Amino acid sequence: MTRSVSIFGATGSIGQNTIDLISRDLNSYQVVALTGASNIKQLATDAIRVGAEIAVTANENRLVDLKAALNGTSVIAAAGATALEEAASRPVDWAMSAIVGVAGLQSSLKALESGALLALANKESLVCAGELVLKTAKKYDTRLLPVDSEHSAIFQCLSGEDHSTIERIIITASGGAFRDWSLEAIKTATLKQASTHPNWNMGQRITIDSASMFNKALEVIEAKEYFSVSSHDIETLIHPESIVHAFVGFLDGGFLAHVGPPDMRHAIGYALNWPKRKNIPIERLDLAKISQLNFFEPDLNRYPALRLAYDVMARGGLAGAIFNGAKECALDAFIAEQIGFLDMAEVVEEVLIRCDSKQDILDAEISFENVMQADQLARCRADEIIQERIRK
Ligand code: NAD
Ligand code: MG
Repeated sequence: MTRSVSIFGATGSIGQNTIDLISRDLNSYQVVALTGASNIKQLATDAIRVGAEIAVTANENRLVDLKAALNGTSVIAAAGATALEEAASRPVDWAMSAIVGVAGLQSSLKALESGALLALANKESLVCAGELVLKTAKKYDTRLLPVDSEHSAIFQCLSGEDHSTIERIIITASGGAFRDWSLEAIKTATLKQASTHPNWNMGQRITIDSASMFNKALEVIEAKEYFSVSSHDIETLIHPESIVHAFVGFLDGGFLAHVGPPDMRHAIGYALNWPKRKNIPIERLDLAKISQLNFFEPDLNRYPALRLAYDVMARGGLAGAIFNGAKECALDAFIAEQIGFLDMAEVVEEVLIRCDSKQDILDAEISFENVMQADQLARCRADEIIQERIRK
């Protein structure tokens, strides 16, 4: 049976890996919508290759280019926010949410509202609006399939298990680009150095977030939301080999671990074919060759982002949206080389402090509009702090 699919963020790292799997087995999938932003050439090439019904760019002013690239084919070209929303609302069996940032939330929600199984790479959807996303899945009688490798690992460990028997969840982290650097050296880390990951090949933003551990911070919150566990039961371990993606510890003292090569196509393929497993063309592990797996506790002085994640979970409400909005803004400033690497966590912490008194916003109902309002507030505060720092 063919599965109808859409991919939001098709031109990115996750999107491209998803297309790689689909294009190897085109008889099994019918592609409905592909969305992207500025990489029109890639979007059009892939839409033609997989026979998509519609290709949408988020950039309204690139419609002319997209139309030109799709000229003479049966693929419909569309552009802009409304077109993205409409594309995400097209009924499909399965949708991949792989836009980066809170910008991906709307597509996640629209796909769930159309009843699609939602493969969720966009962790920001759960960090900013976990309750809303889960409620929407329930309301439209569908479900989320985690794509983040750690969450896919936990999901697989929990298959057939009673969730009430979970004692702890351990998410592993590679430690990112600066795992072996001194704190002094990290202070002067450049954009180029932060944009190189030792184990995974990913988009630039998540690669920098891995070096700062903001990625792990988001993942801890994502796990709390997705698996409905207490934040006290979620731990992180640095695991330089990136072979064990997560552990689940149960009441009886046993642990299950999920082990696999650091290749996102495993987690994407698992979600794409769920509840079945299919052959995925990734490297097979040679455990004898790897021979040794190391684990150690992260030092929260080196990774303040991780400490902040626990503050955010303790605060609850829309604190996740504030945290993420501030992080996105600080990351933009680091990418623009306006602030240093360690400034990112300081900016985010300062935003959380300045927003703490905004109880009307933090404790508002978790609706799409309120999430976007909290996100805007966080970005404004972060901008102020960044400008103050630039002026100093
Ligand atoms: P990426 O930067 O490579 O790709 C992002 C995609 O989103 C692109 O298609 C881009 O065109 C689109 N996009 C960006 N801004 C947009 C906007 N404002 N509106 C509409 N579309 C927009 O990112 P990625 O590394 O593929 O990550 C995507 C998501 O998956 C992120 O949430 C990330 O945290 C998560 N994730 C990624 C990986 C990975 O291996 N790359 C692993 C786990 C989770
Ligand atoms: Mg991950």
